[in-house]
Amino acid sequence: MRYLLAIAAVATIVAAIVVHRIPSPRAARPSLGPGPGPACALPPRTCIGNDCDEIVEMPLAGPGYVDVQLEGEQTPDSSTSFLRRDLMTIVRYAAAKVECKARDWPSGNGGEIVLGDMSERDGSRPGMHIGSPRHPEQTHVGGRDIDIAYFQRDTLDNQLRPICRHQEHGVELYRCIAPPTRLDAWRTALFIGALLEETRVRVIGVDGTAATPILAAFDELCETAWIDKAACNRRNRIAFETSDTGRGWFRGHHNHMHVSWWRH
Ligand SMILES: [Zn+2]
Repeated sequence: MRYLLAIAAVATIVAAIVVHRIPSPRAARPSLGPGPGPACALPPRTCIGNDCDEIVEMPLAGPGYVDVQLEGEQTPDSSTSFLRRDLMTIVRYAAAKVECKARDWPSGNGGEIVLGDMSERDGSRPGMHIGSPRHPEQTHVGGRDIDIAYFQRDTLDNQLRPICRHQEHGVELYRCIAPPTRLDAWRTALFIGALLEETRVRVIGVDGTAATPILAAFDELCETAWIDKAACNRRNRIAFETSDTGRGWFRGHHNHMHVSWWRH
C-alpha cells in the first residue's frame, strides 16, 4: 500500500511538472476568419475631377478617424491639416473601411484613428508659419504627406503615442528598441492595405521593429482576402529601417506612420 502511495505521489509530481511545462496560451491572437468581411458603404476611394491636386483642409472628423489639432494650430492660418484632395480621399476611405470591416475584431481598442501633421495652408511644412518647421526639408510639403497614429491595444484611444519602449537609460532614441506592446497590428495592417489600393500612395513608413508584426498581419490578411490583391502586390511600399541606412525611416516612427503621395 505504501508502495502504491509512493508511486501515486511520484506520478502526481511528474504530471505537475508536465502540466507546468505546457506553454500557457499565447496572448490573444484574434480569429478573424476569412475576408473580405462585411459589405460596407464607403466614401469614394479615388478623387475624380480637375481639382484633385488642390490643397484642402482635412475635415476634423469623419467615419473612422479624428484629426486632433495641436494647441495654437486651430485656425486656417495656423492649421497643419492641409493636404491634397486626392490624398485626403484615400485616407478617409481607408479609415472608414477599417471602422466597418474590423468592427468586431478583438485585437485592439477599436477606436477611431487619429491623424497628425500634414502641411500648412500654403503647402509648407508644419511649423513654418512660426519659423520653426518640425519636419526635414522635402517632406510634408505640398500636402503630399500625412502622419497617422498606429491602431493600438491596451490604450483608451488611437492618439499619436509611442507603441513600444523607446528610451534607454533615460535617453530618447525616437525608435522602438523592443517589440511593440501597444500595437494593434491587425487593424494597422488592414488600414495600410486599404491605403495601398490606391496606386499613387508612394510609400508608407513605419518603425523598423513594429514592421515585423505589421508585415506578418499584412501577409495573413492578404492570404485570407481581407486585403485586396492589388494592394498585396504593393507590399514593398511599406518602408522601414532596422538599422540607420540614411533613408529617414529609422527614427521618429515609434509613435506614427508616415504616408506619402506620388510626387508629380
Ligand atoms: Zn511624416
